[in-house]
Amino acid sequence: MSTSHFPKPVPPEWQPPDLMREVVLTAVPEDDRVWVPLHPNVWFRPLLLNVNAGYWTSLLKVRAAGVVSCHRHPAPVHGYVIKGKWRYLEHDWVAKAGDYVFEPPGETHTLVVDEDCEEMITWFLVNGAMLYVDETGKQVGYTDVHERIALCRKHYIDVGLGADYVNQFIR
Ligand code: FE
Repeated sequence: MSTSHFPKPVPPEWQPPDLMREVVLTAVPEDDRVWVPLHPNVWFRPLLLNVNAGYWTSLLKVRAAGVVSCHRHPAPVHGYVIKGKWRYLEHDWVAKAGDYVFEPPGETHTLVVDEDCEEMITWFLVNGAMLYVDETGKQVGYTDVHERIALCRKHYIDVGLGADYVNQFIR
């Protein structure tokens, strides 16, 4: 009988030759420069920027009273609240630490953090794009994974982390 109850790792040749590199990182960074400013009191921290499938996962950090301006999602979004709480102006529920949220494709909403919450952090997986709309519902802007990469790159140059810093998140 084996003295160890642990299984052996599979041989490296079991992995396909074109396998992409895994991503492993400390999700909430120690270095505040990793947070990319989006709006007043709103930052995002890239985790995975997938240019092949057209989605990105990131942490969103919002301090009261921050607002993510009104936008429409043509593709599904998944979220998991890590800290604090937030809500959409369009719904009567409040997402709190530990909650999972699914945003169905087609939904238009406005994310807010109220004064009674100092800071929220939520993990989001956003597919496709976010379409920013004005008060009449007309599209006035958009963001996708490529725009996010450009935004990160500019920010990381500005804060001294360098243009290549964003590359570790791109697959
Ligand atoms: Fe959204």
